Amino acid sequence: MSRDWSATVLTLFPEMFPGPLGISLPGKALEKNLWSLEVRDIREHGLGKHRTVDDSPAGGGPGMVMRADVAAAAIDAVPRDGRPLIYLSPRGAPLTQARVRQLSGGQGVVLLCGRFEGLDERVIGARGIEEVSIGDFVLAGGEIAAMALIEAAVRLIPGVLGTHASTQEESFSSGLLEYPQFTRPQDFEGRAIPEVLNNGNHKEISRWRLAEAERLTRARRPDLWTAYEKPRKP
Ligand code: SAH
Repeated sequence: MSRDWSATVLTLFPEMFPGPLGISLPGKALEKNLWSLEVRDIREHGLGKHRTVDDSPAGGGPGMVMRADVAAAAIDAVPRDGRPLIYLSPRGAPLTQARVRQLSGGQGVVLLCGRFEGLDERVIGARGIEEVSIGDFVLAGGEIAAMALIEAAVRLIPGVLGTHASTQEESFSSGLLEYPQFTRPQDFEGRAIPEVLNNGNHKEISRWRLAEAERLTRARRPDLWTAYEKPRKP
């Protein structure tokens, strides 16, 4: 299958890219042209001699807000090519593996990274921007969130990971957290690898792994557990 998954990132700090995306799996995949990255400096659309991109918040309060006209100019200069336009924002819909899978299967993404106190609300409505959060905490800017989204999507592009199987069984794919993993040595500071993993009985191993995945999910993520159980109940 030939396709070109491309990410365009709009940022005030283009020098942050590719950063971690140029290393290891995503970096090798970038070299192999399994995906492409274009980084654009929002400041090129800044106003006046100082290329101003922000101003003080209407109604007062601390900090600065990214101007709607500047953000819109930066957005309008990007060919969308069927890609969703996403603003990384703590107020957005929490990113899930299901959404990552969907994005990975598309043409790519156009990502807008905020800074300061955020973005003038009007540009979000005017350009039909989707807001996505990477968690209930506040970063200083959208760049690291954009990298997280891109890395999660890129590793699902066919050919990026060695084996396909590894993305089928991992955390969230089945609605469960992943079962615990072990490798050599057999004995680590008096702790043994669970016996069942040594006996070569693949049916038993699968059963044990499912039970462990369920136990961990129930204990650590009651929210995931409820969602997992629901469709099973009559
Ligand atoms: N005042 C804002 C936070 C601004 S943080 C608020 O309270 O909602 C500055 C920028 O960092 C944001 O514009 C956004 O692009 C990015 N950012 C911060 N936390 C994020 C998160 N959890 N997910 C995605 N982007 C985030």
